[in-house]
Amino acid sequence: MSSSVETIHVDGVWRAAASHARREVLDPADATVLAVVAEGGVADTDAAVAAAHRAFAGGEGAWPRTPVAERAALLRRVAGLLQRDREAIALTESRDTGKTLEEGRVDVDDVTAAFRYFADLVLGEGPGRVVDAGSDDVHSVVVHEPVGVCALITPWNYPLLQASWKIAPALAAGNTFVIKPSEVTPLSTVHLVRLLAEAGLPAGVANLVTGAGDPVGARLAEHPDVDLVSFTGGLTSGVKVAQAAAPTVKKVALELGGKNPNVVFADACATDAGFDTAVDQALNAAFIHSGQVCSAGARLIVEESVRERFVAELARRAERIRLGRGTEPGVECGPLVSAQQLAKVEAYVASALSEGAVLRCGGARPEPDAKTRPAEGYFYSPTVLDRCHRKMKVVREETFGPILTVETFRTEDEAVALANDTEYGLAGAVWTKDAGRARRVARRMRHGTVWINDYHPYLPQAEWGGFGRSGTGRELGPAGLAEYRETKHVYQNLAPKPVRWFAG
Ligand code: NAD
Repeated sequence: MSSSVETIHVDGVWRAAASHARREVLDPADATVLAVVAEGGVADTDAAVAAAHRAFAGGEGAWPRTPVAERAALLRRVAGLLQRDREAIALTESRDTGKTLEEGRVDVDDVTAAFRYFADLVLGEGPGRVVDAGSDDVHSVVVHEPVGVCALITPWNYPLLQASWKIAPALAAGNTFVIKPSEVTPLSTVHLVRLLAEAGLPAGVANLVTGAGDPVGARLAEHPDVDLVSFTGGLTSGVKVAQAAAPTVKKVALELGGKNPNVVFADACATDAGFDTAVDQALNAAFIHSGQVCSAGARLIVEESVRERFVAELARRAERIRLGRGTEPGVECGPLVSAQQLAKVEAYVASALSEGAVLRCGGARPEPDAKTRPAEGYFYSPTVLDRCHRKMKVVREETFGPILTVETFRTEDEAVALANDTEYGLAGAVWTKDAGRARRVARRMRHGTVWINDYHPYLPQAEWGGFGRSGTGRELGPAGLAEYRETKHVYQNLAPKPVRWFAG
């Protein structure tokens, strides 16, 4: 964990902010100071962009021109270093975000897999696509090239994971970058950038500026020497990024929020085992990481005939979730990330109750407990709100907390209509024993990921991203690499002669 304020990395050098400003990073479990980091500003951001620009433009041997095998080897070395530091990084992530240590370990393993995946992906590619130009005297080929200087802006819920989903493909494609982690949780990104340098990445290729969304993120989004901005975060900030990037016609990739439906048909609950699985996964969908997951299954849409039994069991189990400091053995859910996030969750529950929702469990902060749940921590009990409907704010907006709302349906069409009744479109699930219905409903759901009889798994080989206001572009998979590339057609005339279009 970093105890230094030298958390800005520019041109291979760690340094404090030009202004010497600092920020305290808090442990959400007890509000104590975990680390003090540099609070970067516009001058630091400009210096980082200039370094990335030089590293991109550099002559022979510069990163964009390194052989693919070398870039892949570097990504593999990073994967090895991540595994070497697995426990330390998991602990940092757990203390910084509040998530459990085990979730931190899973994140490190997922991130390792992403680095390996992008290494394999670029290695498996050919040198370009030869196009038939209709003449033996022409060689025509379509090639891919790096975009240039990338600005990577990430949120606080999965700091290491979101950073890696951007860094791994950006490097694999030969780009240079400036990353700006969330000011709330910058620590694992600092660790990752140290590993990139240790793995042998040349100075200037990877730059890091810790600091606030405005000015650091805002400056990156508008900077004329930034060619692409890849942003993961909330809708409001995402819109600002797109607006700031527009005058310089940057490429913009946005991974925004979600209000994700978990649709349960009664037939999925026909057996005790089926019922137990569907309830268990609904619990996991909504409450893992205290619901601070962009793809959280925060809207349970359950067939009317099983609602009462389903919700009763869900509430019984939600009440038993062990809340506490993420590093404490036996704890299943940590605190919310900040006092601000806690206040937001409390306001959503209050508004839902005022609009007629029925509280089945939670709805308050848990009793403190000196050892695992200090009173100063930002804990909130898993909350199930029954009898909800789409007009409620809590159903329409992303709460990003441990709040599960319950709506019901009677027909398949009604289930699909409810699942699609959101301005977002990130992810969702359908639970049914009827394979035909499962596929029909999955195809009709307007979301970037749809799970059938499961919730939450994702694969580095499969694209991740949203329909509607959940964003533009995709991460992971071949499309996640394509985001970081320009496409170029090279047409070579092997027997040039005059065309005589103009007679004179
Ligand atoms: P946020 O929008 O507040 O912040 C995200 C990042 O943007 C931070 O680094 C922040 O400093 C920066 N930022 C803020 N204002 C900015 C501006 N004007 N210009 C440039 N950068 C700016 O989001 P958050 O609260 O950190 O994260 C939670 C959100 O992230 C949720 O909405 C969640 O759904 C979303 N998210 C989406 C995905 C996905 O894959 N779609 C994954 C994780 C989180």
